[in-house]
Amino acid sequence: MAEGTVYLVGAGPGDPGLLTRRALDLIARADVILYDRLIPDGALTGARRDAELVYVGKRPGDVAMAQEEINALLAELGARGKAVVRLKGGDPFVFGRGGEEAEELARAGVRFEVVPGVTSGVAAPAYAGIPVTHRDGASAVAFVTGHEDPAKDESALNWHALARFPGTLVLYMGVRNLPHIAESLIAAGRAANEPAAVVANGTLPGQRAVTAPLERIAAAVQEGGISAPAVVVVGPVSSLRDTLAWLERRPLHGQVVAVTRARAQSSELAARLVDLGAEVVETPAIRIVPRPVVGELRDAVSRIGEYVLVCLTSPNGAELLFAAMADAGAGDARAFAGSTVAAIGPGTAAALAERGIAADVVPPRSIAESLAKDLEKVPVQGRRVLIARAAEARSVLPDALRERGAQVDDVALYDTVAEPLGSAEQEGLSRATYVTFTSSSTVRFFLESGAAVPDAVRVVSIGPVTSETARELGVEVHVEAERHDIEGLVTALVADARGRGEAR
Ligand code: SAH
Repeated sequence: MAEGTVYLVGAGPGDPGLLTRRALDLIARADVILYDRLIPDGALTGARRDAELVYVGKRPGDVAMAQEEINALLAELGARGKAVVRLKGGDPFVFGRGGEEAEELARAGVRFEVVPGVTSGVAAPAYAGIPVTHRDGASAVAFVTGHEDPAKDESALNWHALARFPGTLVLYMGVRNLPHIAESLIAAGRAANEPAAVVANGTLPGQRAVTAPLERIAAAVQEGGISAPAVVVVGPVSSLRDTLAWLERRPLHGQVVAVTRARAQSSELAARLVDLGAEVVETPAIRIVPRPVVGELRDAVSRIGEYVLVCLTSPNGAELLFAAMADAGAGDARAFAGSTVAAIGPGTAAALAERGIAADVVPPRSIAESLAKDLEKVPVQGRRVLIARAAEARSVLPDALRERGAQVDDVALYDTVAEPLGSAEQEGLSRATYVTFTSSSTVRFFLESGAAVPDAVRVVSIGPVTSETARELGVEVHVEAERHDIEGLVTALVADARGRGEAR
């Protein structure tokens, strides 16, 4: 990205997946980011640590920064040689005042570029199963602002022209004025029974949509308790929602799932749940703190080639083992080319595979007992074995190996520490329909951090060890995965949600 340039960037309608690659790339490199209220959750997480983030959004009735000030600030930052991202909801040039900002920059002689975004007027209807154009009967679409002062005598909108418009009308900012809008269109000749729809919080987990004939749409919105931000669709395409609604049909639609793993580990599970239609709230009660590579850890990784068997019991362990080796100057995977490598489960095996190691042993069940059993085929009598894992892990595995005469080094790569939940996380948890636990330590740390499992929530555990810990600590487990990995947990959760959906 160029210095002294202002990028007017669309962030899409709300679903973080609809941010463009160009938008993410510019966000990651900007010196300064000026952002609005309606940008997707997490849109700024990829920003540089030292980037300046400036909120300039408006809430109805409460303006953080006036438009003239924003214009002036953009021009000033650009003139000072900064790489600036001006991040806006949807598309910057569709009711986003991006045009005004660009004009100001042009006037000031500041370089700028425009990065279009997915506009809510197309995206929200699409997520509600409404195509804004259609070969049969909607060969045009008009984007219209519904933000008007109904007290004004002269409307800025030509209702007669809009009523005659041969295609779909999509109104932005129109919920509050909807009764006035519908009346005006009908008075100007649009059919009172023409299908209409309102889609609020489109593309977001809380998306709501209603359909009704134009003359009834304002009442339907009121009855449904639907509020802004929302787009209004007027046109026969609105009735296609009856057949094309797809969002609501996803297996976890309407479920709010709390993921208690450490943030660094939650992404795979979170992504799977989101794909299936769930809203995910990350409630990480644990954080991984790598141990400094000194003492027995440094000795172990420096002489890793001396172990006939190296056991890893978590993806973190696999990752941090290589980090520790790099730290100690102990080389890469080739340093233990002669060792047998055991992974406790598929996730750990995958982490090893990323570093070019195909695990020799992966037990059928991802628990220490199962791994110890599988390792019986590896001769260890009188030989050196490394178990590299979290501090304070269970003693099942080292005990079993020592019993067979192995010289076991059980070395801690990292500590897990309890992390109290923030207020946003607490709020998310209070809305959860499911809470997932992926290990005994997530249960323990979750409770230790002061969090509680809400009453009506269903608790899902990854396997018997985790379930037992939960029960010991007074947490009832409703669902236990048959396969003790992320996919197994997701499968069990989906089956439970489906069963309960059918029971309703
Ligand atoms: N530039 C934006 C529009 C900004 S005007 C875009 O291209 O989408 C703000 C209006 O956009 C809101 O009043 C509402 O009508 C619409 N809007 C924004 N986000 C929305 C969403 N997630 N669902 C439905 N409408 C949305």
